[in-house]
Amino acid sequence: FLKGKSAIITGSTSGIGLAYAKAFAAEGASVVINGFGDAAAIEAERAALEATSGARVLYDAADMTKPDEIAALARRCHGELGGPDIIVNNAGIQHVARIEDFPHDKFEAIIKINLTSAWYLIQAAMPYMKAAGWGRIISTASAHSLVASPNKSAYVMAKHGIVGLTKTIALEAATDGITVNCISPGYVWTPLVEGQIPDTMKARKMTREQVVNDVLLAAQPTKQFVTPEQVAAFALFLCGEAAQQITGANLSMDGGWTAA
Ligand code: NAD
Repeated sequence: FLKGKSAIITGSTSGIGLAYAKAFAAEGASVVINGFGDAAAIEAERAALEATSGARVLYDAADMTKPDEIAALARRCHGELGGPDIIVNNAGIQHVARIEDFPHDKFEAIIKINLTSAWYLIQAAMPYMKAAGWGRIISTASAHSLVASPNKSAYVMAKHGIVGLTKTIALEAATDGITVNCISPGYVWTPLVEGQIPDTMKARKMTREQVVNDVLLAAQPTKQFVTPEQVAAFALFLCGEAAQQITGANLSMDGGWTAA
């Protein structure tokens, strides 16, 4: 149902972003994938996506810490695929440390990649969406946009910020056919989660099993990880007709985490 539309998905070489890319391409949208990783592996993923969906899939290496590269990403999408009709602010990193021990470079990188980049991409995409009279802006926030966990000050700060950005732009674009929402997953099994296990083990003096069961899934009443495919299906729903009146919302998908 997305034939003729184009989507930019930041941080889509891995995890949830890659699942969004697959879901959008499968519905016929042309897609710009973005993120870091091994060049050959990214090209293989891009080509496979294009082959299985029949949709056009481009890769753009824009670094989400660089506003000029973010603006160029939107311009390139417009030039080569049209749109952008859909943007998904998804790139994100994590670092786990007490504030006293938190390195400044990690703090700055988290704020830039997880929060500021979304502002710049929305700014760059907005004129195209307003001209088209249609747009979907979706950000991957987190349960950490609603509640906090110790040792994640930068991440929790960035995710709460995404909600404020979402609400503000939803109001600014409300009469332009553009909806702006964020999806707030609980723990999704991806490289981002796997990567924070060693640091959490150190910070909390726990074994790997204790971190998975007593820290990660302890927060989630269903005792199950969210899957990247479930998050992507939710994003597809937000692009459909039935979701036209959903805007400015922070939509939880967290196995009941934030109900507790
Ligand atoms: P991931 O590590 O699998 O993917 C992160 C992506 O971001 C990768 O493609 C990576 O290359 C890209 N990236 C990192 N730095 C970048 C930069 N400077 N410029 C461009 N791209 C960059 O992680 P994920 O778990 O799929 O996370 C995706 C999003 O979902 C993040 O915003 C994360 O905060 C959010 N989220 C994840 C979970 C979870 O449990 N995994 C839960 C809630 C929210």
